[in-house]
Amino acid sequence: MRIDVLTLFPEMFPGYVNASILQRAQAAGILQLHLHNIREYAAGKHRVTDEPPYGGGGGMVLKPEPIFTAVAAVLAQEATEDSPPIILLTPQGRVFTQRVAQELAQQPRLLLLCGRYEGVDERVRQHLVTDEISLGDFVLTGGELPAMVVIDAVARLLPGVLGAADAPEQDSHATGLLEGPHYTRPETFRGWQVPAALRSGHAANIARWRRQESLRRTWRRRPDLLLTAALSDEDKQFLATLALE
Ligand code: SAM
Repeated sequence: MRIDVLTLFPEMFPGYVNASILQRAQAAGILQLHLHNIREYAAGKHRVTDEPPYGGGGGMVLKPEPIFTAVAAVLAQEATEDSPPIILLTPQGRVFTQRVAQELAQQPRLLLLCGRYEGVDERVRQHLVTDEISLGDFVLTGGELPAMVVIDAVARLLPGVLGAADAPEQDSHATGLLEGPHYTRPETFRGWQVPAALRSGHAANIARWRRQESLRRTWRRRPDLLLTAALSDEDKQFLATLALE
């Protein structure tokens, strides 16, 4: 997958995207990340990218011309049959979830546009972007962290990025449930023991324990998820016992 990021602060990205799993995904050629500084597409000696808002009020607004120019130039770098999604990171967009990450992971290419200050000129939103994504109901200073979050969540779903043992389909939200607890060595730490089922070496017992702990955790922490999760009859019976506890 190719991901192009348009930002005023490309220098914020390398520390995160060039380490650990994202670095390996790029080294393996599964992920191609291209960072573009919007300022380089601004006209004039001073390459102005933002101006005060019409109508007054505080803050600055990102001008439309450099963004339209940057998107056209970046799209032209690699012509594709279908235009990729052009995604604006904004607190006003649809909320980013695992389902949205799974949807985006199907795309061969994404363009992520990071806002700053008061945000981008409305004409960018109306006539250029094709999708708007929010990280949640809070306001950050810029779209760079949200872009890194989207890159991370999408990249780890691409085939070959995680090893088979870390299968992302077992993660919280991938199944519609929260994942159950994990333990590693030592078997006893400060008197607290790893649950017997996990030490049993019995694959079916381990799978049942994990499923039940996943259901228990979801029931306690996010009962809303149970309304839409795919549940077997055995799951429903187990949940009924929890309801009686
Ligand atoms: N004035 C804008 C508003 O009220 O909707 C907020 C602008 S915010 C200070 C600056 C930039 O940060 C936004 O253009 C967006 O790119 C990014 N941003 C802030 N919060 C975000 C969130 N929750 N999700 C995604 N992007 C966000």
